[in-house]
Amino acid sequence: MFRGAHERLAFGRLQGIRVGRFHTGVNSAAVVFRLGTTLIEAGPPNRWKQVRQFATEQPVETVLITHHHEDHSGNAGHLRQQFGARVLAPEEALAPLRDGFPIHFYRRVMWGVPPRVEAEGLKDFARFEDASGNRWQAIPCPGHSPDMCSFLETREGWLFSADLYVASRVRYAPRGHRLDQEVESLDRVLALPFAELFCAHRGHVAGGRQALLAKRDYLAELLARAQDLRRRGYSVREISGRLLGAEDYVSLLTGFHFCKANLLRACLQD
Ligand SMILES: [Zn+2]
Repeated sequence: MFRGAHERLAFGRLQGIRVGRFHTGVNSAAVVFRLGTTLIEAGPPNRWKQVRQFATEQPVETVLITHHHEDHSGNAGHLRQQFGARVLAPEEALAPLRDGFPIHFYRRVMWGVPPRVEAEGLKDFARFEDASGNRWQAIPCPGHSPDMCSFLETREGWLFSADLYVASRVRYAPRGHRLDQEVESLDRVLALPFAELFCAHRGHVAGGRQALLAKRDYLAELLARAQDLRRRGYSVREISGRLLGAEDYVSLLTGFHFCKANLLRACLQD
């Protein structure tokens, strides 16, 4: 069940490697992209062997980290140490990247534990150019995690959306997920003139704008219905059961750290 694998991705001058466990669901594989001398995402720590191989093929000057989660930031420390790459991350991600952060057992099994890394902070909407002439903008996208950002390459109009997309209809979330902020982040990104969407778990998403719009509409409706039930006195558990169905083996296997109620809990408790 846990056999590891990897596959290569290409889209124009963009290259990528998708690493992880392919037959356990889309979320258990993660992508590292390369555009010129920049890597976008660093991949999970237990896939360093494949990521290192990919990174040796061309000079790496910069690594862009979308958020601190280990499946995205996991090899940033190695890439900095072994390749001398600059690691850029949203300002809010710097502390967990530098000091470490708690990782639940199921995530340790799935991704491993990342070495700590000193990164350089990017302010919201920061613009910068990399050594190969790509022009970037960091777009704040909290919701999935408080520190998450997407990276827009402004000349191509290519959006690297971290975990903002993943799927149009999601039913589970980790603890602390903010559905209300996620809807706002989707609106923010949909207002951008992006042409192509690249998801950190799926790779290139054909019809990316439509896919993001579908997710936005689904989540906004879910949020409105959940808030309505809350006002009528239902508990988070009852609301989750009515709107998302009973918790199942995914919730059980992760000790309810990744479950349906988490999708609604944080935004209903305020
Ligand atoms: Zn994440």
